[in-house]
Amino acid sequence: RFPIQRKLKLAQVHKQRKAKRKKLLISRVLAMATNTQDQQSQAGRHQEVGHKSLLQSDALYQYILETSVYPREPEPMKELRELTAKHPWNLMTTSADEGQFLNMLLKLINAKNTMEIGVYTGYSLLATALAIPDDGKILAMDVNRENYELGLPVIQKAGVAHKIDFKEGPALPVLDQLVEDEKNHGSFDFIFVDADKDNYLNYHKRLIELVKVGGLIGYDNTLWNGSVVAPPDAPLRKYVRYYRDFVMELNKALAVDPRIEICMLPVGDGITLCRRVK
Ligand code: SAM
Ligand code: CA
Repeated sequence: RFPIQRKLKLAQVHKQRKAKRKKLLISRVLAMATNTQDQQSQAGRHQEVGHKSLLQSDALYQYILETSVYPREPEPMKELRELTAKHPWNLMTTSADEGQFLNMLLKLINAKNTMEIGVYTGYSLLATALAIPDDGKILAMDVNRENYELGLPVIQKAGVAHKIDFKEGPALPVLDQLVEDEKNHGSFDFIFVDADKDNYLNYHKRLIELVKVGGLIGYDNTLWNGSVVAPPDAPLRKYVRYYRDFVMELNKALAVDPRIEICMLPVGDGITLCRRVK
């Protein structure tokens, strides 16, 4: 009896060990597969605020930059981009692909009288200044003159500084002043808004009077680093979380505003083009 019992016991232990080994192997394979997926998504997807595109992968974005943006970027814009890259707040700059887009858009609509709210070192300003005719104008506003002056020598060297009327200070009082004078109504062909997101709706109330019927207002960062679709408990940076509600409120308001036609583009951090129709 004893040897048979022992044989049975040994067979049972052997079976258990085999099952254990199989389980271990399966869990290792699963772990490897999951890790690979994780690593791929970590490496391939945008993880951080500051990525200038909402595309699926950095590689695809790099492809756009290297294939069609950088080779065609005007020399002064390249110089300004490289200069800005050394500045501590370079996260704020307009990306090169968006600069190229704005430049093309302004030419397409034959923009002449333009406005920009939020200049920083002037990359989108230069894209605009290079696109409009020699007698074109840009009313440019920013609370910070220092950063504008950082990029100004490059703009001057490009021979387009005479088109710019820079006003230092908050934009809202300037807009109020403009609205007061009827002759400014419907006088702007293009307005680019890239400043304090919590004021976009206040700007919109005034800008809709100032842009001409058929003219464009471009609101920048309307996808706000993708945070507009982040779940409520998502770990967002403080400032992303703070401005997110304002951006979402703006997007909702623009979507139902009968005075404009809109088009939200996933260029840069999202830009919503509003064409005034009445
Ligand atoms: N368009 C710029 C470019 O191409 O580099 C980037 C602009 S940056 C994202 C936002 C700018 O808005 C900052 O330079 C900031 O000083 C400015 N700003 C913030 N609040 C403002 C306000 N109330 N009026 C005017 N400018 C403001
Ligand atoms: Ca922006």
